[in-house]
Amino acid sequence: MAKLLEGKPLAEKIKQEIKRQVQSLGFKPVLASIMVGENIGAKAYVRSQEAVASDLGIGYQFHELAGQEATEVKLIGLIDKLNLDNSVNGIIIQMPLPQQIDYKKVRKFISPDKDVEGINPVNIGQVMLGKAKIVPCTASAVMELLNSTGINLYGKEIKIVGYSEIVGKPLATLLLERFATVSICHIATNEVGNLEKHVREAEVLIVAVGQAGLIKGEWIKEGAIVVDVGISRLNGKIVGDVEFESAEKRASYITPVPGGVGPLTVVILMRNLIEAVRLQQ
Ligand code: NAD
Repeated sequence: MAKLLEGKPLAEKIKQEIKRQVQSLGFKPVLASIMVGENIGAKAYVRSQEAVASDLGIGYQFHELAGQEATEVKLIGLIDKLNLDNSVNGIIIQMPLPQQIDYKKVRKFISPDKDVEGINPVNIGQVMLGKAKIVPCTASAVMELLNSTGINLYGKEIKIVGYSEIVGKPLATLLLERFATVSICHIATNEVGNLEKHVREAEVLIVAVGQAGLIKGEWIKEGAIVVDVGISRLNGKIVGDVEFESAEKRASYITPVPGGVGPLTVVILMRNLIEAVRLQQ
């Protein structure tokens, strides 16, 4: 039976470290959060970010562009203003954005040294070069979970399912930096019928799709480490992408959903803010 790879204890440890760092700064760092359009899902994230920030002694500034304000021009104008504001140390744009806004265009405007989510192409490039100071939070959270198992990633067969810019792509690079053998699977891997084959080979499996039950428990290699990033709602419950009950019987470690990656991401966002302060200094 697998050991549970829980995010909360790790998040608590990182929080203590951040509290010490905030105290040694001698001022209250500030995270500016931007929400564009009506976004009920993001409001829950905003509340949890605000609560964690307050617990850590971090200021949380909330900006909302609603109604006629929800345009690309207004958003870029606000980002520019926050870039120039010396009292603001980090900027986060809440997702999803309304259709009229091109995320790929807008993210370039966040100053790289205030880009706490690591989404500006400059910061993405630094990840590719193995020199990143600010790494996308979810990818960082997965690395923290893997590190906590004590696994030596050298030469390990790692399969990532999902290649988004905030999870699969940066993770692949971070894992290559640790000399793992990395494959990324995605929708086409599944469509041509090769997903099961890849998953069966995984000594470490990381799944970030958002499709409940996509990964069958019986596909998990005996002793594999399984990190499930996916979040879906099934019969009123939050679940991941991996069939937990059957996977748990085969894996050596497995993340619960909820309670695995989730609790870490918001804390790592705050850790990135402290890193941003250092870059600004
Ligand atoms: P995304 O939509 O950007 O990417 C999804 C990826 O899954 C794509 O690469 C796509 O090719 C792949 N995919 C889709 N259907 C597939 C299939 N049938 N078989 C194999 N691959 C398939 O998603 P994202 O933003 O990376 O998020 C993925 C999941 O992770 C979502 O459920 C999201 O809610 C969750 N997530 C959780 C956290 C957290 O903190 N726990 C953070 C970020 C994302």
